[in-house]
Amino acid sequence: MHELLVTKIQRFSIHDGPGIRTTVFLKGCNLKCPWCCNPENIKPQMEIYFKKGDCIECFECVKRCKFLEKPEDIFRFPEHFECVEPCPTGALGIYGEKITTKKLLEILTKDIDYYNNTNGGVTFSGGEPLLQSKAVKKVIKKLKPIHIAIETSLFAPEENLKDLLKDTDLFIVDVKILNHKIAQKTLQGNLKTFYKNFQTIKKEKIDTIIRFPAVKPYTFNKENIKKLINFLQENNIHHIQILEIHKLGLEKYKSLNLKMKNFKKPAKNEIKTLKSKLNERSIKMDYLKI
Ligand code: SF4
Ligand code: SF4
Repeated sequence: MHELLVTKIQRFSIHDGPGIRTTVFLKGCNLKCPWCCNPENIKPQMEIYFKKGDCIECFECVKRCKFLEKPEDIFRFPEHFECVEPCPTGALGIYGEKITTKKLLEILTKDIDYYNNTNGGVTFSGGEPLLQSKAVKKVIKKLKPIHIAIETSLFAPEENLKDLLKDTDLFIVDVKILNHKIAQKTLQGNLKTFYKNFQTIKKEKIDTIIRFPAVKPYTFNKENIKKLINFLQENNIHHIQILEIHKLGLEKYKSLNLKMKNFKKPAKNEIKTLKSKLNERSIKMDYLKI
């Protein structure tokens, strides 16, 4: 039986492809983007969280687990999933849930009328959905002819991408850092994999949306913008979605006992300048807040 590790299923999404969609967020990513706003989607396993602000200090968790003196101690026992159960407020909980392909199909087909009436469908996002390609393939085969989108960084083995090529209608590709050394150092990803997978999608002529998170200093800098424009021109791409970055993930970092890295979004005039540069080259740009 195939299972997927899911963190969230969002019904009625309007930003992850055409029409009204259900977006499935899968857990597990092989990149380490310093601006990541979904740190709970990175580890490919279930994870315990503790949200201090929701704790009413009832100590039910401490009564359940002999190793805890206070709720925060749970970070030292990441496998103690049963110890979060007595928490009455959800201050302790688990990111990630294993869902069978059958159960996921039941959830996704609930909104079939919305998909059909709006030319919408289902989007798999993450994390990196290509890392769970076998189970995703099983689901999307059964969902057809519903429109399927995959949001991916393309930093995943080529065979995983190939699993999904036939039944995917749209790839939403997040382009990040286009310098090999910097991508390796900052994202811990091999850019050759990205380029190879991108060419595979291109060869198959599958619809593609290019997205680019505008993050200072990581992606939004002179050299990277130049490389981005070259990439768009070389590949004959005439539309790009620039993503406005935010720090709404801060509480999630704290809930996992992690530190959020420093980054900031570009000023309005910098975005305006980028838009003019792109428009001069006949590339349309949308600036999206997601
Ligand atoms: S059970 Fe929940 S609310 Fe009670 S002390 Fe533990 S974390 Fe806090
Ligand atoms: S690819 Fe997405 S999920 Fe993975 S680290 Fe980067 S921003 Fe986070």
